[in-house]
Amino acid sequence: MDGKTMSKQSLLGILLASLLVTVPLAGCFDEISDAINGESWGKVGGLTLACLRSDTYSKMVVEIDYAPGYAPESSTVSLLKQRLEQVCDKPNGISMDLNEYTFSETSSWNADLVRSVAHDTMDDSPLSGSTLRWHVIMPQGSYSDDSVLGVAVDASTIALFGDSIDDANGLFNRPSSEEVENSVMIHEFGHLLGLVNLVYTSPADHEDADHPGHSNNDDSVMYWAVESQSLGAFFSGDLPSEFDEDDLADMEGMKSGDIPTSDQLWRP
Ligand SMILES: [Zn+2]
Repeated sequence: MDGKTMSKQSLLGILLASLLVTVPLAGCFDEISDAINGESWGKVGGLTLACLRSDTYSKMVVEIDYAPGYAPESSTVSLLKQRLEQVCDKPNGISMDLNEYTFSETSSWNADLVRSVAHDTMDDSPLSGSTLRWHVIMPQGSYSDDSVLGVAVDASTIALFGDSIDDANGLFNRPSSEEVENSVMIHEFGHLLGLVNLVYTSPADHEDADHPGHSNNDDSVMYWAVESQSLGAFFSGDLPSEFDEDDLADMEGMKSGDIPTSDQLWRP
């Protein structure tokens, strides 16, 4: 994919994207975070139970640090809160903590850099007292594979790449970059919630064999193409921004213990 800059405004771009359907794209979650980063930050999905359940962590804070000019859309922030409240039991509330931050890196990101920068800029640790804290950085620049719009890199850390999201809007602005940002944000949080099959095995057959960790249902926000800059080629109507029934059932099963979970940094 490197070096192929697709103009999203052109029909040629759409055709090119269609031709790329069969080419496996880089995943938007990083499966080797444990090996690189040690145990303490965990792997993607490692704080799923801490979010779904209220036993120890009755409160949640989502810290969003954005570069100047890269603030999230208000619709993204409210939708994220709504989706988390739908699945995570937090009787003392889920709050969104937005800060403008000038990142030292402004062009080229990779998973290790996202980890080190995000860990340095996070205001508190992921597990502190009764508070679970998940962290999003929204910097200038793009990922090493510039078709990637967002990444989840460990149990609590996400990056969204606004420049790439802006480039991913479709013909006639459908979908708009705002809609893309909405969906990518929920998608990456879905990975932190263990979807699909990251820290469990679903009783339902809904993982896309060609895109591990993703849903095979294009009505689910966990559909693989949501992460990809070529997403305009895969959705004729609205982008999905909701978890589907299988996603919700998986999370319910993990929460109740009916579905066993692995790699958890916290257990009830
Ligand atoms: Zn993904």
